Amino acid sequence: MSTTVIDGRANAARVRAGVAREVQDFQDRYGRAPGLATVLVGEDPGSAVYVAGKQRASLEVGIVPFDRRLPADASFDQVAGELESLNADAAVNGILLQLPVPEPLDGDVLTAMIDPDKDVDGLTPVNTGLLALGRPGLRPCTPAGVMELLADTGVVLEGAEAVIVGRSNLFGKPMAQLLLGANATVTICHSRTRDLDDVCARADVLIAAVGQPRLIGAGFVKPGAVVIDVGINRLTPEQAGNSSGLVGDVDFAAVAPIASAITPVPGGVGPMTIAFLLRNTLQAARLQAGREGAAAPGEQSAA
Ligand code: NDP
Repeated sequence: MSTTVIDGRANAARVRAGVAREVQDFQDRYGRAPGLATVLVGEDPGSAVYVAGKQRASLEVGIVPFDRRLPADASFDQVAGELESLNADAAVNGILLQLPVPEPLDGDVLTAMIDPDKDVDGLTPVNTGLLALGRPGLRPCTPAGVMELLADTGVVLEGAEAVIVGRSNLFGKPMAQLLLGANATVTICHSRTRDLDDVCARADVLIAAVGQPRLIGAGFVKPGAVVIDVGINRLTPEQAGNSSGLVGDVDFAAVAPIASAITPVPGGVGPMTIAFLLRNTLQAARLQAGREGAAAPGEQSAA
């Protein structure tokens, strides 16, 4: 069987190019570019790298980045105050609180303070509820990116068996909702699932978001399945040898010969997450412009 290795970088580049064009249209229409604020609490090096990547990607498509940083010992009131000021700032269309936040801060409570119209991570209770109801809203970036990759493979989701390993609020649950919305039959697995390999082997579409290096081996995969690997696991230098040091939750070498299509790590799902963050920021900016009844220069306001 010939296996397609799904190129997340190429797909992400296409999404970003589309966003860049539409950001230019937005700028032409409203006389300003959309703005995206990142809020980083503490100095976790991994989180700092992610935030820097999001800032850089924003600039590349013409979105104005706002970089807010608070010390690791910031109080709840300090972080909440920062979010409130960004909620009130008309130049900021999207707000991303980089998770996890240092203890004892509660990332869920802080996320819930973000204005749902600016919730470009799609993680506030309002946007989570809209997704569950099948209503329009801002969708979490990684699951939205996976839907785009699945569309690119041409797999028919209607009636397909889709199995997701991992039930996090960040990924597994919203992924299940998006697949349900596409009329797949969806199973969500987690650490207490019995006979995980058998459940996974039912899948036409198998999605792993676990955080366990190479958990999903050949015995978990039905021949011809589409396999999406969301996991990002960092190997020790000894384990990494000459490789990038990043591996997914899927044993790529064992599974690729069986699957019809599979994402690599790195270069699969990861690049799509940032691309969809940019797309969500544009969507949020349009929504806010519409809400404000913001008339383009020389146009009459619809409000
Ligand atoms: P969480 O730790 O929040 O969730 C992990 C899930 O996996 C939980 O539901 C857990 O079950 C389940 N799980 C853990 N061990 C097993 C096991 N042995 N068998 C079956 N299920 C198991 O992780 P996230 O969802 O936030 O992230 C998952 C992975 O995806 C990570 O590697 C993360 O780095 C990566 N990620 C990548 C992104 C990207 O842009 N590419 C974006 C987001 C995440 P239980 O609920 O029972 O504990």
